[in-house]
Amino acid sequence: MPKKRKSGGHTGSSKGRDSSVTCSNCGALVPRGKAKRYTKRINFAEYRVEKELREAGALIPRAQTEEWYCIPCAIHFHKINIRAKDERKRY
Ligand SMILES: [Zn+2]
Repeated sequence: MPKKRKSGGHTGSSKGRDSSVTCSNCGALVPRGKAKRYTKRINFAEYRVEKELREAGALIPRAQTEEWYCIPCAIHFHKINIRAKDERKRY
């Protein structure tokens, strides 16, 4: 049977089962290798204020949030784009 994608739509290891993650939008349980991860930086202060504080030598706490998206949601929010048929085959 011909394969649509070389990797079968997975990233990472080709063996065994993946642990699953929850989609941030729809709440679907998706294998980790098939989901898309996005990290966001949270700013506690406004950019200009933060810059001034940094120049004054203050330590500003930084935090990151992690978001996982299933493929249909990632496409809907334009996180990934649909690729042409021959482009899909590469990986
Ligand atoms: Zn989703």
